Amino acid sequence: MASVELKGLGKRYGEAVAVDGVSLHIEHGKLVCLLGPSGCGKTTTLRLVAGFIEPSAGEIVVGGKVLSSPARTVPPENRNMSMIFQSYALWPHMTVAENVAYGLKIRRLDKATIDAKLAAILSTARLEALADRYPAELSGGQQQRVSLARALVIEPETLLLDEPLSNLDANLREEMRFEIRRLHDRYRYTTIYVTHDQAEAMTTADLIAVMNQGRVEQLGPPEEIYGQPRSEFVARFIGGANILRGTAVDEARVSIAGAALRTTGRTLRAGSPVALSVRQHEIAITAELAPPAGDNCLPGVIIRQVFLGAARDYMVALDDKTELRVTAPPGRNIATGARVWLHLPAEQVMALAEA
Ligand code: ADP
Ligand code: MG
Repeated sequence: MASVELKGLGKRYGEAVAVDGVSLHIEHGKLVCLLGPSGCGKTTTLRLVAGFIEPSAGEIVVGGKVLSSPARTVPPENRNMSMIFQSYALWPHMTVAENVAYGLKIRRLDKATIDAKLAAILSTARLEALADRYPAELSGGQQQRVSLARALVIEPETLLLDEPLSNLDANLREEMRFEIRRLHDRYRYTTIYVTHDQAEAMTTADLIAVMNQGRVEQLGPPEEIYGQPRSEFVARFIGGANILRGTAVDEARVSIAGAALRTTGRTLRAGSPVALSVRQHEIAITAELAPPAGDNCLPGVIIRQVFLGAARDYMVALDDKTELRVTAPPGRNIATGARVWLHLPAEQVMALAEA
């Protein structure tokens, strides 16, 4: 069983800190996404796990064995891991079958075993019909499947993927997310998947580690990262969140634009400044003049709106000039300039951790 454990992992380049005390425990067979903006340390973390670079601090323990520490680093070829890069790095002069079987040949397996393993993975990756083609004769998605098959055929305990879909066009990218998850479910190796795309992380991951400036800012299942962001960074990065700032009135309410909004997420200290996150599609918008029944309603004015086909996207200014984005059903069209009421359901108004 190869659980992967990162303990206080750090990597410096001179004065620059690329990875800053990352601790993560990844159980055997789980798929964890490292999600974060460009430059936050995702690739460096993955290269540390693969053994291409040595940590400046901390340890990497796989299946109970220390593979990396500042004192000693086991080389990549002695780790039972496969890494897939953004560029698929297929050998252009080899066919699909030759590319995929290469890792088995250099392990000197006998021909019957190689043929059996090759047939099985080509079938799983839906590549049988393409076995005799060369990489130049394949689409981007097909090349991607070949690089996955080539990584999986050697039955690694750990699979490392660095932005594996970023060279594909949008439709194919969506399809391949499911493909990667399907192959993961079939083989159940431990996977670390690096991406800056939140939808990709949501679709594929058991657990998401949101990274910011070399650190893990929040770790949790996709629903939790989305529904209960703990920081403004996570709320904004996962997308679709409004951030509101106010002052706590009591342990559950925050004063915003003259109203006391009920919140969830943590117990507040009366009088302290609080940042709140509310997803734009959780806010209900009505064009009635009278305030709707119930609490957590705020008046505002529509300052712009866009028809997006599946939804209508409004920007609403509150009386204190705070602007909120609201995603509403497309059917009802409320004009720019109209006065509206917004309802922010208390269970959707998350109080973020104190900065
Ligand atoms: P990501 O993959 O999240 O975009 P990286 O892990 O590639 O981020 O980089 C994290 C930070 O470390 C960046 O600021 C990058 O410039 C720096 N960095 C990465 N590799 C090196 C290197 N070999 N030498 C110096 N700085 C590096
Ligand atoms: Mg990177």
